[in-house]
Amino acid sequence: MAKPSPQCVKCTVHRCSSKEKNQTVPASCPSEKYPDLVKETREKYQLPENRAVIQGWLGLMSKVLDPQKQNEKYTWTRIHEIIEYAKIRGMKRLGIATCYALMPEAKMLSDILESSGFEVVSLSCLCGEVNPQDLGMPGDIFCNPIMQAEVLNRERTDLNIMVGLCVGHDILFLRHCTAETTPLIVKDRALGHNPVAALYQSQGFFKDRFAGR
Ligand code: SF4
Repeated sequence: MAKPSPQCVKCTVHRCSSKEKNQTVPASCPSEKYPDLVKETREKYQLPENRAVIQGWLGLMSKVLDPQKQNEKYTWTRIHEIIEYAKIRGMKRLGIATCYALMPEAKMLSDILESSGFEVVSLSCLCGEVNPQDLGMPGDIFCNPIMQAEVLNRERTDLNIMVGLCVGHDILFLRHCTAETTPLIVKDRALGHNPVAALYQSQGFFKDRFAGR
């Protein structure tokens, strides 16, 4: 019988985060269900392009969690972390893919990145705007996240930063981007782009809001 699909969120063993490796894990544990992938992915970790990313992350963590600077622990904002990651990786040219509605935020980000010594290429999601009628769809104007990605590919940015792209547009953008890409802002129109707040509220004031959705 096929093993059930992974449900890490329901696991109570957490052998993966423990030094005790003899523990029995659920049959659904991905490490048990897919031993071939454990081997394959560990090998992929060794590929130069993947090692480079991990080295960047490691360098970043060594600063974020520097035991010599206890007072700075947990004081790094996401923007600081992206800047540090890019510097550690020797990146010079950063791309911003922004929603047109977050242009002021993207401008602030661009200014910060430029003052940190980076060249910045920024693109609104409406660049290369699409006429929905050409797609047989309703509406006045469509964004073109594929254009955003392809322009950044041509501009040869080292790292792209996503700023408030809609659900769906972000999927198309990521599908077509060739450079490393990280999100800074994910759009949440109701919560000031802080989607995790819905989870924190889901056991309280928002309790009924997600029922049956
Ligand atoms: S990887 Fe395995 S041990 Fe770790 S949380 Fe998932 S099911 Fe549990």
